[in-house]
Parts: sequence; structure tokens; C-alpha cells
Amino acid sequence: MKRIVLLGPPGCGKGTQSKLLVERNSFVQLSTGDLLREETLKSNSDLGIKINKIMESGELVPDEIVIDIIVKKVKEFRDKSIIFDGFPRNINQAKVLDNSLKSVSIELDNVIFFEINFDILKERIENRIKESQNQEQRKDDNLETLLNRIEVFKSSTLPIVDFYESKEILNKIDGMKSIDSVYSEILKIIS
Ligand code: AMP
Repeated sequence: MKRIVLLGPPGCGKGTQSKLLVERNSFVQLSTGDLLREETLKSNSDLGIKINKIMESGELVPDEIVIDIIVKKVKEFRDKSIIFDGFPRNINQAKVLDNSLKSVSIELDNVIFFEINFDILKERIENRIKESQNQEQRKDDNLETLLNRIEVFKSSTLPIVDFYESKEILNKIDGMKSIDSVYSEILKIIS
């Protein structure tokens, strides 16, 4: 059983790699973005509306909301190999994840950090948005929000890299390589 975190800015390919690991390697993907979107669809409550607004702006949803969702899932899938995709996104969440895993006697095996050239990432995002203009899109998949999500990544999420480096479970990979090369790198790391 493996428990891994995929860490990287929006658009770096974490979602694509998670799907491959689910299909080919029997992982369960825990994506807080997906879980939050499910939550907002379920209820048109004040909470759902609040979460929606925050997601549309690209800011982080308050820790207590996200943590509540993820802690339940950790318990549910304690006997499975898990990919954490989009969680943790700040140091507090990283510490909570550690404690939550400890409480069910498991720990993280690897944190895989997708290193990205931010200028090229911005170009990719701009092109993707131009190409998909007539298709159905996620509400936070617009240039303004995506650029904000990159800034939020730099200020809140990047400090996690040092946190996991000091725990000696951080692995850096070149996120600019092809989907297949990144996938093989990940397999090497987790095998
Ligand atoms: P994602 O699908 O991972 O790109 O996330 C989409 C949006 O959901 C983010 O821009 C945040 O607003 C919110 N979100 C997802 N995961 C988290 C998290 N771990 N902490 C706070 N907000 C999150």
C-alpha cells in the first residue's frame, strides 16, 4: 500500500497523472478540488454558495472545511493506496494530514513535486483557454482565476516543499516532460 502526495501548480499535470495511477495502479484519488465541487453540487446551502465563490476567485477554501472532508476520506480509504491531489495546500493542512494518517496508523510514502517553468505554464494556460472557448468549462478555468491560483500556489503551497524535504520524503520531478515520461518517473519513485 502506498500513500503519495502530488504537489504542483494548477495546470502542471497532477490530475492527468492521478488518473493514470488510478487506472493502471489501483490507486484511489483524493482530489479536494473534486470533493469540494461535489459538495457545492449537493447543497445550495449558504456553505455551498460560499465555497463556490471562493473557488471561482482562485483563493483557498478555509482549512476547517477542506480538512473535515479529507479526514473522513482518509478513514474510509485507510486500507487502500491513496493519491492526495490538491491537498495539502498549506503548512497547516500538511500537519493535519500527518496527524490524520497517524491516527489510522499509516504514513506518507512520497511527496512528488512537479517542477514547472511558470512562464511556460502561463503560456500553456492561455493557449488552453483560447482553444476551449466554445466548450463547457469549469467556472474557475478562466485566465484571471488561473493566474490568481498560481500566485496562491506560490505564496501558500510552495512552503510545503521545505516541510516535506526536512522529512526526507520529497521527490522532485520535471513537470515539463511528456505525460509518459512523467508517469515513468513517478513509477520509479513509488516502486
Ligand atoms: P483544484 O481542482 O485542485 O484545482 O482546486 C480548485 C479550487 O478548489 C482551488 O482553487 C481552491 O479554491 C479549492 N481547493 C481545492 N483544494 C483545496 C485545499 N486543499 N485547500 C483549500 N482550497 C482548496
